[in-house]
Amino acid sequence: MIKSVIKSISILVLISSIAAFTITSTLLTFIKVWLSVTVLQIIVYSIYTKIIAYLYTIETNKFNLAKIEEYSKQGLNVTCPCPKALKAFIPIRLDQNNYYKCLDCGKNVAVQIDLKTFNQTDILDDSQMQIEFEKAKKELEKLDDTKRTRI
Ligand SMILES: [Zn+2]
Repeated sequence: MIKSVIKSISILVLISSIAAFTITSTLLTFIKVWLSVTVLQIIVYSIYTKIIAYLYTIETNKFNLAKIEEYSKQGLNVTCPCPKALKAFIPIRLDQNNYYKCLDCGKNVAVQIDLKTFNQTDILDDSQMQIEFEKAKKELEKLDDTKRTRI
């Protein structure tokens, strides 16, 4: 960190000095040119880093969107077979072998998909339930009527 700061300041001073030496002949103009070139370098570097940060943000957002699109297609929660058993959510594709790299142990982990079949249960229709309820209610009323007539 300190090394890179010293290196940056050294480059800044060196470029300013070279520019001032080549352009000026007197000491007063040398100082003016040196300061102007130094400020100009700082401004240009600041603009350059902001542009790079902006481009990096755009690329990162594009990458994240693409990742989300891929993950939303098919995904599965898996557990690494290593001792720490780190869990991960990975995209699953049915047209190729699936594997991922464990973030803890760094090994490639193959994922084998096991399929099971089940009988689908029928969900009762509300209108059908209402009809059954009405039938049961009428039968109960008939039973009540027959009891009353007996008594
Ligand atoms: Zn692992």
